Order: sequence, then C-alpha cells, then structure tokens
Amino acid sequence: MDLNQPIDKFPYIGPNYLKKLKKLKIETLKDLFYHFPHRYDNFTNLKKISEVKIGEEVTIQGKVKKIHTRKSFKRIFYITEALIEDSTGTIRSIWFNQPYLQETLKEGTLLSLAGKVKSDNYGLLLSNPAYEKIKKEKELKHTRGLVAVYPETEGLSSKWLRFILHLFLKKYLNEVQEFLPKEILKEKRLPEIKAALLNIHFPKNKKEAEKAKRRFAFEELFLIQLIIQKQKIKISSQKAPKIIPKIEYIKEFKSQLPFELTEDQKGVIREILNDLQKNIPMSRLLEGEVGSGKTVIAALACFVCAKNGYQATMMAPTEILAEQHFNELSKLMKNLKLKIALLTSEKAKILGTKKIKKEELIKRNEEGEIDILIGTHSLIQEKVKFKNLGLVVVDEQHRFGVEQRAKLLRNSKNLDTLIPHFLSMTATPIPRTLALAFYGDLAISQIKELPKGRKKIITKIVMPSERKEVYEFLRKEVKKGRQAFIVCPLIEESEKLEIAAAKKEFERLQKEVFPDLKLGLLHGKMKAKEKEKIMKDFKEKKYDVLVSTPVVEVGIDVPDATVMIIEGAERFGLAQLYQFRGRVGRGEYQSYCFLFTESTAKKTWQRLNAILTAKNAFELSEKDLKIRGPGEFIGKRQSGIPDLTMASLTDIKLVKEAKEEAEKILLKDPLLKNYPLLNQRLKEFKKEVFLE
Ligand code: ADP
Ligand code: MG
Repeated sequence: MDLNQPIDKFPYIGPNYLKKLKKLKIETLKDLFYHFPHRYDNFTNLKKISEVKIGEEVTIQGKVKKIHTRKSFKRIFYITEALIEDSTGTIRSIWFNQPYLQETLKEGTLLSLAGKVKSDNYGLLLSNPAYEKIKKEKELKHTRGLVAVYPETEGLSSKWLRFILHLFLKKYLNEVQEFLPKEILKEKRLPEIKAALLNIHFPKNKKEAEKAKRRFAFEELFLIQLIIQKQKIKISSQKAPKIIPKIEYIKEFKSQLPFELTEDQKGVIREILNDLQKNIPMSRLLEGEVGSGKTVIAALACFVCAKNGYQATMMAPTEILAEQHFNELSKLMKNLKLKIALLTSEKAKILGTKKIKKEELIKRNEEGEIDILIGTHSLIQEKVKFKNLGLVVVDEQHRFGVEQRAKLLRNSKNLDTLIPHFLSMTATPIPRTLALAFYGDLAISQIKELPKGRKKIITKIVMPSERKEVYEFLRKEVKKGRQAFIVCPLIEESEKLEIAAAKKEFERLQKEVFPDLKLGLLHGKMKAKEKEKIMKDFKEKKYDVLVSTPVVEVGIDVPDATVMIIEGAERFGLAQLYQFRGRVGRGEYQSYCFLFTESTAKKTWQRLNAILTAKNAFELSEKDLKIRGPGEFIGKRQSGIPDLTMASLTDIKLVKEAKEEAEKILLKDPLLKNYPLLNQRLKEFKKEVFLE
C-alpha cells in the first residue's frame, strides 16, 4: 500500500470530505498522518458522578437515563438534555443545536463524557461535553486520556479526524517506513516513526506526546538543513569569476561619494570584496535596517564587478523600488562612465542615453553592453539573459528561494564555466535561531549603526484619549507640506477582515477626521500595478495621508513623510514596528512615530517601550522572538512553514543538532546513496515546502 496515493482511494473519504481535507492541505494518507494536533484536551481525570466539582475538567462514564430535545426560550436553537447515571448518582448534560443526539444517544446507551463541570439553577451539569459510546473501554479515543485537538476547517471536526486517524493508523501504520537513519535516532534518543505517529495522535501520556513532537520537529529541521546544505555544497563546488577590487577602483568610487562611509559599512564592504576575489561564488546576506545605507554598498560591489569586465544586476521587489535604485546608483556613479540601465514592465532606460525600447535594452544587455542592470525580480528572472554575469544583488526579498536562485544563476551565457556571486539584502533583522534554521547556506553581514547626523524619530505610545491631539498634530504637519502614513491593525487570522477593517478606517478618517485632507488607501489584495500607482501618487504628493493595511512594501523613500501612525501597535512584532517607523525620517525634517494602543496591560507597555529604548533592530528582533515565539514573529500567514517546525524554532539546541547531523551525513555520503528512503523523502519534502 502506497501512502502517497490520493486519499480518496481509501474508505470513508467521499467527495465532500475530500474537498474539506484539501482545505487542510491533506491530499494523501501520509498528509493525514502528518496532520498534527496543535494541542491536547486533558481528559485524564476520570471521576464518579458523585465526586465531580464545579469548575473541574472531568471524564465520567454512565448510562443515559433520560434524554429529550426542546427549542430554546426564544426558539433560536435546540437544546438536548440528558440525564446520565452511574452507580453513585446522576448529572445533567446539555448540548446545543444537535437535535440528532436524541436519536444517537438513546436511553440506556452507555456513554463516556468529558468536559468542564458547570452549574445553573437546577444544579451541576456538563455543557456541550465531548461524548462517545462505550463499546470497549480500551477503544475510547475522544473522552479518555490526552485527546488530540487539530487545526480544523468547517465541517471537519477534531472528532472526525480522530475517528479517521484511529481507523487508518490501525490499518496502515505498518506500511509506514522509517526514513531517518537509525544511528541518528539512537544518538538523539528520538522515537521511531511508527511509535511517534501513534503517540502524537493518541498519546499514552504527556511525556510520550512530547517525545513524538520532538521527533517530528527534528525531522523537519533536518530535512530543511539537508536541502540547504546540499545547495551550499553544490554552489561551493562551482566556480565564479574572480573580481579583483583594485585600490584605484575603490578610490575612484569613494571620490564620488557625498558622505563618509560608516564603520559598519566599511566592514561589510571588506567582507564582500574579500568574497568576490575568490573564485568560489559568494552567497551573502546583508542585514541592515531601513536607512542604514545598504544601497551604496551594493553599488560599490556592482562597480567593482563592472570594472573587472563582468555585468552586475540588482533586483527589487517593486517597480518603484527598482526605479529608486536606478536613480540612487545613477547619482552615486554619475561620473564613472558605466552603462547603468533600468528595466521594469513600464520602463527601459540607460543612464545618459535618450529613449530606448525594452527589446533593444534586453538585446544590448545580452550582448554584454550594459554594465549594471537594475530591474524587478520577475522581469530579470524570466526574460533577461546576460553575456557574462558576475554579480546578482537581490533587495528586500525575504528568503530568496533556493530554486529561484538556481534559475536566476542559469540566465548567463558564461554559466557553463562560471556562476555569478550573490548578495541578498534585507531590512528585516533575523534572529540567530532562524538564521541558523533557514539561512545556513548564506554568510551574514550586518550594519548596526545608522549614518551620522540622522535626526532621531520622536516616538510616543498613544492612549485612546490622546488620539484627537495626534490627529491635530498630523493636520499641522500636512499644512507645513509634510505627509503621513497610517497603518491599520494587523489581523493575523484573516487578510479579508484586515482589508475590510482598513477600508472602514479609511472612510472614517476621510469623512470624520480629515475631510479637508487628501487620503489614499493601500491594501494587500490590490493588484501590483494598482499598489505601485498609489505609492507613486503618494510620493508625488497627490495624497497627504496614506492609509494602509500592514502588508505595504518596505523600502520606499518618501522624503516629506514625517508622521507614522500605527493602529493596534500591540499586535505587531517589535521588529515590524521598528521597520514601519523607518519609513519616516528619510528626509531633512524632524519625524514622529505614534504607536496607538487600547491595551493597558503592563506587558504590552513593556514591549512597546522596548522600541523607545532599543539600540538597534537586531536587539529588538531577538527580544521579540523570545516574547512572541517564532510563529507570531515570522507571521504564520505568509510563511507556509509547518506549525511544528515553527514551534521548535525557539529550541536552539534542536536546530543546531539538526544542522550538525545534516552536515555529518552529507560529509559521509553527499548523494545519500546509502539512504534511499531518506533521499526519497527529501525529494517529496522539497516539493511540499516553500524555502521562500
Ligand atoms: P537602505 O539600507 O534602507 O537601503 P539606503 O541605502 O537607501 O538605505 O540609504 C538611505 C540614505 O542614506 C540614502 O539617501 C543614502 O544616500 C544615505 N547614506 C548611505 N550611507 C550614508 C553615510 N555613510 N552617511 C550619510 N548618508 C548615507
Ligand atoms: Mg534599500
């Protein structure tokens, strides 16, 4: 029996359930076995009816003595009430809106019930308890012991999942094959796969459940590490062009700069230039908060690359950002006589040249005439070929996928011999464990200080009673010719709700608060083009205030924006708030950031206060990971990272172990020839996950 067969090949899975399972991304029996509970109900407290107390979580067992169903007082719903009896007494149990229970739980049925004991005017009762008929005591799976509670979808309850899992595990568990190497399981004291599957769904006790979880967390981290390390080995076995940073090049570039580089910038430049002159492809991630001056570093790297006779390319996530980079690089290298070009879906430009058609630019680039090509990710990835690409710079794409990178690296004609160096830049500081777990193939450079002379952004936590004042302040700034951002609350559960809330807030602000100002709205479901247009209009001052959902792009430069208001600030991660704030204060004026919160909880205030005192974004991101955990930190909605892995990311020891084991096994057996099952699982896993 192949567990990777579509799940509807198995009994009980009709088209209706198939659809619902698909919603939970369960398409094969293996997916079902790997649909792990996110918690357990503790129904270990078996009591006689006469012993139960108010407020207790209990399991009781007894016969249905009486059962009947009636309509509620206002006839809105059904109430089914049963009287349950054991040798010591009786207790009532009620269920809402499940009138069919009257038929399923006929008088005389022997039941096991679990739930919290409550009371009303008539005495003690169980309200909406979990229930199941007792056939064999040993077979109880919904009301005894630790009972798995799963991520659910409408019409697909945990109870049904337990039912189906129980059935299928009994029938097919024997078909599951261990693919993790025996020696690793032994050394790390991890349970073998069959035991682990049983214990994660139907745990004997808490300890066994924990052990099972640990195994699967290790398994995922290990697979991720294998993918990353394999990629790393592959890349480092290839050759890249040697790019020699002659002193005269550096001098030439520096002589053009209108400012002194900071010490951190100099340090990072040394690291990069050092990598470039080797013939192993560089794989480097540059982290530095918004405004820390990453662009000039990329520009220097591109310049040195071009001086060595190789092409460089720089990619941004949006057209506006690409254009911004083009303008910045053009300014920085005005007199350096390089062919710098811009390519977006709308525009094609070469610095210092009159009009040029897109096709013409693409052709000239392919012939190697362009030194530095700047564009959007999608454009450069898909269509554009190079003659002799030496360096790829990727800006603000959080985790540039292993696959995408491979694809990109194929775009140059010199590739049968040489592959380009790679520099990724991000404004999001990545905590150490995450870096270890997901960025193991990249060397990391950091800029921690901002350039001198930046005005500090005045930041304030704002209570509801002070809102009006802040709105007035915003109006005054606008009257002075400045602009403002208002970020609406994050609603992690649903983007739809988030957008609805933003639209409503936009209307409220426009009608009730700022009827005299021009407001723009930006939200996540808009088409890329629409978003670009609105941001551009904002930059060109067609709006005074930009209201947006939290998903707006980072990195955009609006020099006249001096006010940042963040609604529901307590819902955001600290690093994220820090980044929002970085969007103001990019010009010459004093800027302000207002963190709106309705929470008076001490913990919220402590967290938000950390922003006021933090030295840099790195410090904050470590703090944030500790306080909120990786799930919240990365943002569950975007990441696609399995929940269990997510939860295990705080466990630095486990992450390290997974990494070490992956390195060890690849050192011994780079192609995993002696581990065919592991190899096969790895292939499947690669398809299932992201690594985005
Ligand atoms: P980011 O890291 O967010 O990409 P940028 O590279 O856009 O930041 O830099 C922000 C601004 O700071 C730019 O206008 C840039 O010219 C300027 N800048 C960069 N480095 C320095 C420096 N060492 N001193 C002064 N200004 C700098
Ligand atoms: Mg930038």
